[in-house]
Amino acid sequence: MTSPETPETLDTLRRVFGYDAFRDGQREIIEHVVAGGDALVLMPTGGGKSLCYQIPALVRKGTGIVVSPLIALMQDQVDALRALGVRAGFLNSTQDFDERRVVEAQFTAGELDLLYLAPERLKLAATVELLDRGDVSLFAIDEAHCVSQWGHDFRPDYLTLSGLHERWPDIPRIALTATATEATRGEIASRLRLEQARHFVASFDRPNIQYRIEPKTDAKRQLLRLLQSEHKGDAGIVYCLSRNSVEKNAAFLTENGIEALPYHAGLDAEIRAANQARFLREDGLVMVATIAFGMGIDKPDVRFVAHLDLPKSVEGYYQETGRAGRDGLPSTAWLAYGLQDVVNLRKMIDGGEGDAAHRRRQAMHLDSMLALCETVECRRVQLLNYFGQPGEPCGNCDTCLTPPETWDATVPAQKVLSTVVRLDRERRQKFGAGHIVDILLGKKNAKVIQFDHDSLKVFGIGTDLRDVEWRGVVRQLLAQGLIAVESDHGTLVLTDESAGVLRGERTVMMRRETERPVAKAAKTAKAAKAQVELPAEAMPIFERLRAWRAATAKEQGVPAYVIFHDATLREIATALPTSLAALGRVNGVGENKLAKYGDQVLETLAAD
Ligand code: ADP
Ligand code: ZN
Repeated sequence: MTSPETPETLDTLRRVFGYDAFRDGQREIIEHVVAGGDALVLMPTGGGKSLCYQIPALVRKGTGIVVSPLIALMQDQVDALRALGVRAGFLNSTQDFDERRVVEAQFTAGELDLLYLAPERLKLAATVELLDRGDVSLFAIDEAHCVSQWGHDFRPDYLTLSGLHERWPDIPRIALTATATEATRGEIASRLRLEQARHFVASFDRPNIQYRIEPKTDAKRQLLRLLQSEHKGDAGIVYCLSRNSVEKNAAFLTENGIEALPYHAGLDAEIRAANQARFLREDGLVMVATIAFGMGIDKPDVRFVAHLDLPKSVEGYYQETGRAGRDGLPSTAWLAYGLQDVVNLRKMIDGGEGDAAHRRRQAMHLDSMLALCETVECRRVQLLNYFGQPGEPCGNCDTCLTPPETWDATVPAQKVLSTVVRLDRERRQKFGAGHIVDILLGKKNAKVIQFDHDSLKVFGIGTDLRDVEWRGVVRQLLAQGLIAVESDHGTLVLTDESAGVLRGERTVMMRRETERPVAKAAKTAKAAKAQVELPAEAMPIFERLRAWRAATAKEQGVPAYVIFHDATLREIATALPTSLAALGRVNGVGENKLAKYGDQVLETLAAD
């Protein structure tokens, strides 16, 4: 039913997915692949990558093969497509022989628009033969950064994907990823033989996410305050570095009335899968996880992503925070970090595996992350610059909302450095930040007495600042590279840069640490936005629609968002359509869903 003015791609977007218009970049990519071109697509998480291969697969003749490492999510992805009326299936190790047989038969009979495959299946001769027996319209390689050996998501099976090109030279390939510095992009292109492909780089901005970073004082309490004051009843992800802290924080939240589930590699596969399924299916659950969790989680209504430990790189941080707010509604990316984080990560890098070049690279990643944490400028501008893109101060990050004050910390810096100089002579002991602060504050504790440090000239010269303030000074000195951590004991040592400060040739500016930097400003900004989206009278209707959706999702055993997204329900609750035709004009209501749920939605609206 394509009308002459509407190209088939746009028609498919509207009819099948129920969306009005393409987002930035989607149209060009889709047209390029429909025409048979190869593409390498860089788009932020939540940017809308899936449509870039789903629409070409629907428009081109044959079945689109999607290679994805996310076996545990294939069922959900296929369910979501089927709810749209798309003929989709998957093949992976979770199926038994008979289940696979059915899917294979559908594929060879030309009854599938999309077939999801785990990468390891492509190594099997049987899979290659199967693909030869059917009609393949394109290969989509999702999470393409898994081919990069330096990333933490490396999957050896992805290396075999370089063979696709030789085996099926005429079938277009589209590789997609959200992880994308110059270096990673180059690695993906060469390993997947996509040097000749057209590269599409979308804007990395995620304007609906509010970025906030604050010094860590009591991480658990800070998190609880955030969730209670701004994210009551919201779904979200909390990232921690260790399994132990995942368990502890999940328990702490649960004790405090927030339903939270743990997720880490040490848990039984079954428990992990069950927790993931609950997080996807139920409304308002919090997942406390290590970074093992989250890739490919396309739950659209994750309202916050919190980091309780410093991420190792800006790339990782941006990918993790990008899991918030895929539906475009206001969301929070919040990070608490402290002195100990910096010390731990530096030690981990220095004492870690790999050659010197690898360690240098990791240290550079960490430095960029620290620069982001300590910046007094717009966080978003910094993030975009990191990905090589320009940006303007955004008005929706902590530094824009409450511009941090800077202060001249040269004298305190000198005091810390002179203390470090005096301790440096006794190499074999761990003289960490805490000890230095104790000396500056003139505390006669056991360690100070043991090493006779109360006789040092610097003893007690720092009573003008409080303990936390000193820790802030040390942290910022570390971040600025004016002191370093020695790997074996964690002792603080001078760097080449320190001398200039000690000699008084260089001033040191620092961010002023405030008690609770932005929670307030952010809250009002958020509240204001939420009101714009949903007027008070629409709220009960929205809740009624959500209740209908929850019941329907349960009945069908699919996540609620597979039925309709929150954003779609919000639009229905304000537009109050009274006919199927009007309902069909709401964003996110395509032909299939209109036919399936239209009457029920209108009834729910009328049931006042
Ligand atoms: P990514 O894979 O890039 O992280 P997705 O493909 O999951 O992102 O898309 C993110 C969200 O945006 C999804 O909920 C999707 O339905 C929605 N979306 C994508 N393209 C459009 C569009 N053109 N109009 C409206 N919503 C869109
Ligand atoms: Zn900003």
